[in-house]
Amino acid sequence: MKILLASSEVHPFSKTGGLADMVGALGKALAAAGHEVGIVTPLYRGIRERFTELRATDHRVEVPIGDARVAAGIAELQLSKRLTVYFVDQRDYYHRLALYGDNNTDYPDNPQRFIFLSKVVVQLARDLPAGPFDIVHVHDWQLGLVPALLRSEAHRTGWHSPRTVLTIHNLAYQGRFAGGGFGLTNLPPAFFTPAGIEYYGDVNCLKAGIIYSDFITTVSPRYAREICTEAHGCGLDDVLRARRARLAGILNGVDYDEWNTHRNLHLRHPFSLRKLAGKAATKLDLQRELGLPARADVPLFATVTRLADQKGVDLLLAVLEEMLATNLQFVILGSGDPALQLGYQALAERHPTKAVARIGYDHALAHRIEAGCDFFLMPSRFEPCGLNQMYSLRYGAIPIVRRTGGLDDSVVDLSENAQLANGIKFTEFTSRALAGAIRKAHALYRTPKILARMRKNAMAADYSWNRTTTEYEQVYRQALA
Ligand code: ADP
Repeated sequence: MKILLASSEVHPFSKTGGLADMVGALGKALAAAGHEVGIVTPLYRGIRERFTELRATDHRVEVPIGDARVAAGIAELQLSKRLTVYFVDQRDYYHRLALYGDNNTDYPDNPQRFIFLSKVVVQLARDLPAGPFDIVHVHDWQLGLVPALLRSEAHRTGWHSPRTVLTIHNLAYQGRFAGGGFGLTNLPPAFFTPAGIEYYGDVNCLKAGIIYSDFITTVSPRYAREICTEAHGCGLDDVLRARRARLAGILNGVDYDEWNTHRNLHLRHPFSLRKLAGKAATKLDLQRELGLPARADVPLFATVTRLADQKGVDLLLAVLEEMLATNLQFVILGSGDPALQLGYQALAERHPTKAVARIGYDHALAHRIEAGCDFFLMPSRFEPCGLNQMYSLRYGAIPIVRRTGGLDDSVVDLSENAQLANGIKFTEFTSRALAGAIRKAHALYRTPKILARMRKNAMAADYSWNRTTTEYEQVYRQALA
């Protein structure tokens, strides 16, 4: 098949979270399976400097954004024989300090920036010499308008347009803005109704994607069920229920070329299931790096996360105060909500020999933390898929997760299967439940035999892209049917 992916972030070029990892890895996996794959994404500041093989092309695009016309160049990078990335070079929109906003505030022109990107995707789907494409697969609200725009363009010009798939990585972000901005889409007014793009008078880009795409996926089976309920539907559960027959949950895969413990630029001591000595050495190194006492006998708990409501980091902060009275160490790497940043920094100041807060974004440190820690905490309120728990499994760190979304689908608790257990789960979103899970981990650390078995199960768990790729191929076939 010929498949055009489109995403506002793609690893290794740009990333704020799991979306980037997933799209980068999906592109690679589909190309390896024999498909012709293109990926459209913005040329953000710094990408050209970091990827010098990138080359400008003669291809130029120009699209209307309301009454204005906006143009962009297209730069290209051939990643492998069947995989090409198309970067949309529009300096005013994308040459900025961050992807979506500064100082915890979204850029006010995000609607224009991503309506523009969506329109460029439609043009490229029609005009790229690599086409015609069978499938255009878009991700999250930033590209949510593509299916509607494609449909409108096909209707207007008689173009036999590609089929569309939308993947929802997080239903909480919908790209909602005042209805007065609908004109920016230049779509016919018939699209702006409650049965279409309108949502209580506003434009809702994700809703548009749900309604107009040929197939919808989300990133774990449990999250696919959850978002059809009022409790997790973020106001779109009825829209999703109406399309349930065309909605599938596919657990994200892990790119083990990148996330492995034996061939990894970021790790000084390689290790594997059979040779665990490197893990012990990595832990001691990490403790020293963080300024903690280098002690093999003290369990090291860690998390690497956006500091956002979703991640349950407020609950964790409340519980840690009590937990740090026991014999454990804790490190957090993350950034986001300023109040949480301050909260974790203050916690670390109160417990200088036990807790460390690294505020910021550090890819290499994220690898060292996953590899060096004993337990990886993910007490999320909700979690569409979550990648860190799968990374921590491979890195021999036992994940402690709340039973929600992809966390529930990817971790096995002792109570579910004593032989195959690879992590610790708790259900209620309460300090009591989280503290209970941390106490269990503590007890487990003093039971080396069971810990060793769980670590073995964890490291052997296979979330590679083979299975995931096959499931996406099935979805594409259904979209084409
Ligand atoms: P989400 O996409 O909701 O943020 P995921 O668990 O799916 O959550 O993916 C998070 C990804 O972002 C992981 O690859 C994780 O290592 C990375 N990440 C998050 N915060 C940081 C940080 N402060 N430094 C480095 N990597 C981070």
